Amino acid sequence: MQLLDHLNRRRREREAAALVRRRRVVEDACQPALRVSGADGAARPLLAFCSNDYLGLANHPRLIEAIAEGARRHGAGSGASHLVCGHGRAHAELEDELARWMRPFIPGAEAVTFSTGYMANLALVTALADAQTTICADKWNHASLVDGALLARGTLQRYAHRRLDVLETQLARAATPVKLIVTDAVFSMDGDEADLPALVALAERHDAFLVVDDAHGFGVLGAHGRGSLAAAGVRSERIVLMGTLGKAAGLTGAFVAAHPVVIDALVQSARPYIYTTAAPPAIAHALRTSLALIESDEGEARRARLRAAVARLRSGIAARVADAAGGWTLADSATAIQPLIVGGNAAALALAASLEARGLWVPAIRPPTVPVGSARLRITLSAAHTDAQIDRLLDALAAAREEAR
Ligand SMILES: *Cc1c(COP(=O)(O)O)cnc(C)c1O
Repeated sequence: MQLLDHLNRRRREREAAALVRRRRVVEDACQPALRVSGADGAARPLLAFCSNDYLGLANHPRLIEAIAEGARRHGAGSGASHLVCGHGRAHAELEDELARWMRPFIPGAEAVTFSTGYMANLALVTALADAQTTICADKWNHASLVDGALLARGTLQRYAHRRLDVLETQLARAATPVKLIVTDAVFSMDGDEADLPALVALAERHDAFLVVDDAHGFGVLGAHGRGSLAAAGVRSERIVLMGTLGKAAGLTGAFVAAHPVVIDALVQSARPYIYTTAAPPAIAHALRTSLALIESDEGEARRARLRAAVARLRSGIAARVADAAGGWTLADSATAIQPLIVGGNAAALALAASLEARGLWVPAIRPPTVPVGSARLRITLSAAHTDAQIDRLLDALAAAREEAR
């Protein structure tokens, strides 16, 4: 059987390159202390530093209750695409609320919601970038933005990570009338941030629009958790903001906020919006509770807790784990994403395995997700982590560092 032989060959290549991925079954609701089942079916406790539930809302009693209330009020499923009869009152109210959230940064913005961030990015880039468009994209953008750009009809130019001089040359030389700059706000594998004020200035200078993926900033950064636009203090009609609702917001889904003409273009022509069933209205209903939590005093306290956790981890790693000579380097990140760069694939896997033997779950990230030679542990922190849990990770990293020497 040709296909199976072919797939088996590819699988063996993966194994040889230490690139096999595997799934595990988590027995508990999303939280730092989990029971996780392995291949043998036995559940064992692992302290997780890998979720994107930055504010610890995924298991919040008020969101659990809000899903139930949303289902009682609006039913379980939406029944159809947004353009047929699946666009409910709950979706419309969520979109209005998100538009209000983003208007201080994108004057006159409207918003449209999607089932996932992956779909929102595919929708955005394919619907906005036709053959008249040059797409200039940061090379470290999330896979969903890369896939959107590869599917789109526009001309794709990728610029080296955060190299705005290269971007400016691409914009100046673009042969098409329409120009789109596409960037993550917080880069998902490094935790570093795009220079949004400089990008907005470039967009204005070159009559471009700026697509910003704020998957890791929304809910976490900026006053009231409004995200990276608020944190950077930018304001422009040229910004197209994509935010996800499955990370800090604790549920699932995504939205795009932008000029009404851009939002209408998405509704008219974005295939990942049109040809799919609308997300359950109960989720849209619960997301409004999530927004209320994010902007409340409780949300503020959770963001402060997260910042304290980041500071504790960074100073502990600097003091006890990282060393310039040994080649373990903590990436220069101020966000909840704290990568410890190890280098080789096998070394990163060995470190993850050694932590797991000590009861800690920190994923190793390997190429092609990150550049060759920069395999890493991707530590993510949450407001739900206690100081004692962070110290356990630091102790385990220090012990693994000793072993590796
Ligand atoms: C997670 C992520 C996405 C995809 O969002 P989902 O809602 O999980 O599909 C898009 N962009 C970035 C930068 C992400 O980290």
